[in-house]
Amino acid sequence: MHLSGSRRVVHAEPPMHSPRRHFLLHSLAGAAVFSCGGLTQARDEPLPSPDAAVPPPATPTPSESGAIARAPQTCGRTAANIEGPFFRPGAPLATANTLSLTPSGAAGTRLQLVGCITDPQCQPLPGAMLEIWHADHHGDYDDEAFTYRGRVRVGADGRFDLRTIVPGHYRVGGGHRPAHIHVKVHANGRPSLTTQLYFEGDRFNAGDPFIHRSLIMPITQSGEGLKAAFDIAI
Ligand code: FE
Repeated sequence: MHLSGSRRVVHAEPPMHSPRRHFLLHSLAGAAVFSCGGLTQARDEPLPSPDAAVPPPATPTPSESGAIARAPQTCGRTAANIEGPFFRPGAPLATANTLSLTPSGAAGTRLQLVGCITDPQCQPLPGAMLEIWHADHHGDYDDEAFTYRGRVRVGADGRFDLRTIVPGHYRVGGGHRPAHIHVKVHANGRPSLTTQLYFEGDRFNAGDPFIHRSLIMPITQSGEGLKAAFDIAI
């Protein structure tokens, strides 16, 4: 749930790129190698609710290898998640396979998110449409234009390559939403999917009432920014 009636939301927490978040920064060994159907996590149970009194991880444990962690190749269908109030139809459609949402000179930690759009059997879905929207590094959505909003149609291999920034946290009620990227996927002959992708290690993951474990992306360092890999099956 998002704040209603106001686009500007308070963000009292450090951005993902602060020193406190350097646990996320691991060197990415080698080139960006990934394959369709190998990155979708199979877990679909929700995280414990705040009522379960499970504290957020004070010191999240990074991957020891530094490489992108990969879940078993059991695609299934990616879990749905709430749309929230900030979706705007008609976002710009990329003319290339890479969807670049970062304005020139934009602040925030750069993020590359790669993956594939597949069916539940891990087979690529050529021509599927991926739509993205997320907050800026302060946790604000652009409700007047299309900053950090865009669409891309994947090619024959189903792959997408999103270049953007790590979204900021924002307040909801008495807490904060963890960093997340809103996603819609459309493919002919299939029910569309609306969901959100979350960041491994975010301190607000454990207390968020909407998150599903299966939607948390493994994160690694890539140059000066972060890299995430996640397949989306519909
Ligand atoms: Fe949101």
